[in-house]
Amino acid sequence: MHAQRRPLIAGNWKMFKGGPSGLELAHECTLIAKSFHHVELVIAPPYTVLAAAAAECEGSGVELAGQNVHPKSEGAYTGEVSAAMLSESGCTWVIVGHSERRQHCGETDAQVADKVRAALDGGLTPIVCVGETLAEREGGHTLDVVKRQVQAFASQLTNVTNGGRRAAIAYEPIWAIGTGKTAGPAEAEEVHFAIRKLLHDLEVALAHETRILYGGSVKPDNASALLASPNVDGALVGGASLEAASFGAIARAAESLAHGSH
Ligand code: PEP
Repeated sequence: MHAQRRPLIAGNWKMFKGGPSGLELAHECTLIAKSFHHVELVIAPPYTVLAAAAAECEGSGVELAGQNVHPKSEGAYTGEVSAAMLSESGCTWVIVGHSERRQHCGETDAQVADKVRAALDGGLTPIVCVGETLAEREGGHTLDVVKRQVQAFASQLTNVTNGGRRAAIAYEPIWAIGTGKTAGPAEAEEVHFAIRKLLHDLEVALAHETRILYGGSVKPDNASALLASPNVDGALVGGASLEAASFGAIARAAESLAHGSH
């Protein structure tokens, strides 16, 4: 982590924790947030509990994210949700281009770029996900794939001012998501550094302000090692964000590292 950027720990609840269990978890996250001064906490519950979770989190410091957004502002798109709707439901963030959407819903780099644009136009900060498959890693293509994915949307981020919160980028190697496997800290840092350099070539301020999160089986026992790398500014957490104890322990790891650097 770098003293210049505030660590960001985001929980992607996926299609879990709707209804009362979601509200309970949101409440527990607000309790966790009370003990942190450095870490920024974001949770991405399913749409059905967003508004109620936002009410629960109001004033706590915990911010809400949607898990997806449609590129258009409105229209005949059954089952879809716009940036304005997410914002009205209390979101300030939105996850874009998660690998599960790229894989199962066929989202392309171009669509991800359109969604980034829609999020920014709607006043949301996108957390844009990138990452390679196992075959791409084994073929030695990791950096090419990730750079292609970042290049596809990064130009949307220049000429935007959003109080230092234009976007976060989550590097999530697909082979590490939900599998219990993680990239080692050095493997993660190599990719994060490449992303930072690409942003730097586009705009120096963008490179300095953008939080680059690591995602893929982040757990309390591996969080500190991953977060200690200079270009890892936080984590996007799936499975371990579904329990307040493990999500809190990951956030605590980030808080201790940030505390040490201040
Ligand atoms: C994710 O879905 O973004 C993710 C990183 O999941 P997990 O932590 O369960 O691997």
